[in-house]
Amino acid sequence: MTSHPTVAAFGRREGRLAVNGVPVDRLAARAGGTPYFAYDRQLLTDRIALLRATLPADLQLSYAVKANPMPAVVQHLSGLVDSFDVASSAEMLVALDTPVPAQRISFAGPGKTDAELRQAVAAGVTIEMESENEAARAAHIGEQLGIRPRVAVRVNPDFSLKGSGMRMGGGPQQFGVDAERVPALLKQLGETECEFLGFHVFAGSQNLRAESLIEAQQHTVDLVLRLADDAPTPVRYVNLGGGFGIPYTDRDLPLDLAAVGANLSELMTGKLRPRLPEARVVVELGRYIVGESGVYVTRVVDRKQSRGKTFLVVDGGLHHQLAASGNFGQVIRRNYPLVVGTRFDEEPVETVTVVGSLCTPLDLLGDNVTLPRADVGDLIVLFQAGAYGLTASPTAFLSHPAAAEMLV
Ligand SMILES: *Cc1c(COP(=O)(O)O)cnc(C)c1O
Repeated sequence: MTSHPTVAAFGRREGRLAVNGVPVDRLAARAGGTPYFAYDRQLLTDRIALLRATLPADLQLSYAVKANPMPAVVQHLSGLVDSFDVASSAEMLVALDTPVPAQRISFAGPGKTDAELRQAVAAGVTIEMESENEAARAAHIGEQLGIRPRVAVRVNPDFSLKGSGMRMGGGPQQFGVDAERVPALLKQLGETECEFLGFHVFAGSQNLRAESLIEAQQHTVDLVLRLADDAPTPVRYVNLGGGFGIPYTDRDLPLDLAAVGANLSELMTGKLRPRLPEARVVVELGRYIVGESGVYVTRVVDRKQSRGKTFLVVDGGLHHQLAASGNFGQVIRRNYPLVVGTRFDEEPVETVTVVGSLCTPLDLLGDNVTLPRADVGDLIVLFQAGAYGLTASPTAFLSHPAAAEMLV
């Protein structure tokens, strides 16, 4: 497991795994105990640098805040990305607290209430409209407030992204307006005071296959160019979506980012720049930016034998890090990388099963993993905890104590 690329990116100090140079046991003391999440500031910075070096220079980078909305993380990223995509008014307020201007914040997601639309219009963020009804309500709220709502149309494409962990476009969807209905909506918008900016197409998530992403990006650009013919004003914003996946388990191969970047360069110079010269073109990424930079650290509370099997019981579990238990959308449960953080330099000598402290068999964190010998008090570190960790977990389930979060 220590050869997994996500694990190899972290440092070590005095035989311990370190997060941005600080050993995990020292971080436990700093946090006041375990369990905790720690996000490595340098790894975040490095990841953005990699994206900047690989994607075309005139393509902008947006961070999807729902992947990790911790205010310190969002603040750190505000100096590195061009824009934020938010999916609730609470996320919007976190984004507005950063130096990123409101015009660079877009608000997507089905079921926006009037109250949320009102907040978004007042803030001056871009509302990515998910339905005709939402468009009409946004226009009405704009009239009431005497503010022109800034709007884009989220399009449910007429194709899907193959091989995604989560499909969010193509076929019937609660997301976006079906591509074939968009021309009529654009006409409706042209009759309102809304300021039309452009289009947002998001086809899916967690994709490790460059060829699938490339195909979807090509379809997306063609779709946007087709729809642009019906736009009431020149298109100034094109959000191509994202879906860049990260290698969660030993079986996953990292995404070929260079291939994706080369295709995006071609699309920019060959199609988007000539046809939509005024448009700010964006990819929006969540887990690819933050996922691999975070760890979830727990302490061994019990070491027990049961009919030939050794269990390490830790003081955290699926209530903080649901995804590691395999219960957050995975079809087949596979272990996320995990190590004994306090014995990072020791050889693996035994096969154990690591479980959380919740009274349910679902609370499985590492099934038959080969580790150095760990005793009560050792720290177990789970990787891939930077995205969809704490805020994507059922924190109230079984009423155990909360986990701390630190940006290191
Ligand atoms: C969730 C979401 C994202 C981020 O997805 P990742 O897989 O974390 O990159 C981006 N855009 C939209 C519209 C989303 O809903």
